[in-house]
Amino acid sequence: MNKKELESMRNSFKTVYDKRKELLSNPQTKKLQERVINIRKEAITNNKELLEIAKKSFKENDIDYYFAEDDSKARDIIYNIIKECANNEGIFDEGISDEDNNNDLITIAKSKSNTLGEIDISKFLKLKGISLIETDLGDRILQLKRKDNKPIHPTGPAVHLSVNDIAEIVNNALDKNVPAEPKAIMELVREDVLKKIAKSYIGLSGANAVASEDGSLVFVHNEGNISLISLMKTHIVVVGIDKFVPTIEDAISIAKLETNYATGSKVTSYINVVSGPSKTADIEKKLIKNMYGAEKVAVIILDNGRFEALQSVNECLLCIGCGSCILSCPVYNVIGNEFGFNNCFGGRGVAMSNFIEDTKTSFDSGLYKCTLCGLCTINCPVLIQTNSIIEKVREDSHKKGFYPKAHDKIKENIKNKGSPY
Ligand code: SF4
Ligand code: SF4
Repeated sequence: MNKKELESMRNSFKTVYDKRKELLSNPQTKKLQERVINIRKEAITNNKELLEIAKKSFKENDIDYYFAEDDSKARDIIYNIIKECANNEGIFDEGISDEDNNNDLITIAKSKSNTLGEIDISKFLKLKGISLIETDLGDRILQLKRKDNKPIHPTGPAVHLSVNDIAEIVNNALDKNVPAEPKAIMELVREDVLKKIAKSYIGLSGANAVASEDGSLVFVHNEGNISLISLMKTHIVVVGIDKFVPTIEDAISIAKLETNYATGSKVTSYINVVSGPSKTADIEKKLIKNMYGAEKVAVIILDNGRFEALQSVNECLLCIGCGSCILSCPVYNVIGNEFGFNNCFGGRGVAMSNFIEDTKTSFDSGLYKCTLCGLCTINCPVLIQTNSIIEKVREDSHKKGFYPKAHDKIKENIKNKGSPY
């Protein structure tokens, strides 16, 4: 990230920080926070049971589910579902059988999701010749930017770009000439996205939370794009094992608190709950699917290191994905998204990368850049002690030989001279 982008990012972070101050000190929000902390703790403790309950509920609700132990398995499952859908539409032979055969016949409409970022689905589908269109405005801007386009925040992926930068990006990519005005840019991108996904029949998204007992998926959004995605013939949803909670009420509480902390708003414009395919029995009581919404809802339950993290730093999985921890993180404010791993931002991302990938990845993601100041813990709605988790991961990385080599010199100096210098 360059200096200008870092400055824009800090300004945007400050805006959110100031905007949410009053809301976060409100007794109702505090009550909600306490409730969510308990929901998350219980959900992590009873994770295995909740997954089993969810599988049963999905089956009852006619939702297809799959389990992916890692990112590669998740990508393969997604690809196979797409192939199956394309076969059903009779276009598979024309399109996606060759890896580099760019094919406009299959366009996937995708919404913002850190889990989809974690499994790097965009790059994978591109290699498979399947076009994927980001429907979230921030993500679409980054997609049109093409280079150095890593998101910066879980709910505001492009908040480091100024309106002038964004106008230049969209005008160059779409060969247009809109002024550097947010509304004009939004309208241009909206028109282009809607045109590109007009024939799309597969939607791909994450979910904010999953209600195991009800077999329901909860999504929050402001733009209305997840509504579009859930109306497509096939809706594929990828969720981490940590997103499962007992009931719809629990799931909505989490989504609400996440919104409070992420944006400073009380609630998002939309909260969608999907509990199965679209269906009707209005003609002779015969059940038919795909009235207006999806004919097939497929949920991919992703482990990708989470079970391992549960064993050693289970607190890490309490996360509700609000991004509050990075707003005031001194390291993130100075170096931006270099501190973190893929779409797992900041210190928690660094810690999680130890389980999603390995110790070397965690070291490369900034394990020793953290100052251990604890501001992330103070600002976390579910009180995750990221600084302590980082210390724990460092202990392990040190044993494996991943630590700054300057530490050897410091140790030697202390031993020989009684001082690090
Ligand atoms: S403890 Fe580390 S991750 Fe947390 S705010 Fe401080 S520098 Fe950032
Ligand atoms: S660690 Fe806490 S503050 Fe950071 S994204 Fe997760 S829930 Fe939000």
